[in-house]
Amino acid sequence: MIEICEVGPRDGIQNEDKFVSTETKVELIHKLIQSGIRYIEAVSFVNPKIVPQMADAEEVLRKVPMRSDVKYAGLVLSRSGLTRALQTDVDYLHVVTATSDSFNLKNAKRTVDQATVELTKVVEEGISANKGVLGVLGTAFGCPFEGEVPQERVLKVAEKFLKAGCNSLTLADTTGMANPNQVEQVVSAFKKAFGQDLDLGLHFHNTRGLGLANSLAGYHAGVTRFDSSIAGLGGCPFAPKAVGNVCTEDLVNMFQGMKIDTNTNLDQLVETAQWMELQIGRTLDGMLMKAGTA
Ligand code: ZN
Repeated sequence: MIEICEVGPRDGIQNEDKFVSTETKVELIHKLIQSGIRYIEAVSFVNPKIVPQMADAEEVLRKVPMRSDVKYAGLVLSRSGLTRALQTDVDYLHVVTATSDSFNLKNAKRTVDQATVELTKVVEEGISANKGVLGVLGTAFGCPFEGEVPQERVLKVAEKFLKAGCNSLTLADTTGMANPNQVEQVVSAFKKAFGQDLDLGLHFHNTRGLGLANSLAGYHAGVTRFDSSIAGLGGCPFAPKAVGNVCTEDLVNMFQGMKIDTNTNLDQLVETAQWMELQIGRTLDGMLMKAGTA
């Protein structure tokens, strides 16, 4: 079985220029839950001056349905983000750093080592506060400014997060540079370094059209948790020319066609994607919502 972490409300919407209202964000989350999604990256506790689209994180979390079978996650990029997150009912903290210095310097104005020192403390405090904590390693498959990011560097950051007590990790291809062979290699290296039982997820962007191929390669390498975004919404405000995440309903359609369970309702996901396209007011990247289910 596959677990989908829906990142549309965060990674998807954060890249939109036009402010998406709190009501629309909350309604989207309702529709995703109705479609069977149970893990939602709903908000980001990023500085609202840097990403105004996410300024209503607390309000969104106050308005979404609190259910024991739905996990809400919020992105945490710094200590101040942690302070905000701990004042909410968010279930999971997705603690993020890039693994390339150039990217992190542009994005967070500090080197990876500097970020890791602060973020391992954030991980420890999140765990003491009884939150689930998942470490997200950005640019894990390449950096738009540096090119290749050595695997040892990604493993080193992962080790620090795990030592600090992270329950799970997600490897993010922030700007869509991964290819399927590389995905298999990186996943094997992680399983070799940290054990077969490591709770590992994958986060792909479809920048170069390889999102689904990379997800499938990850599945064949033993990964069962994937980030995706309804209608293929998304990008990254700090990454040049990044396009949307892997599209949720396209991903579900692929796995469903292969008889791999996703515990979601494909028709309802397509309806949610079409509704989202109307809210955003332009054509979105998802393909199934245009072609229809077979
Ligand atoms: Zn992303």
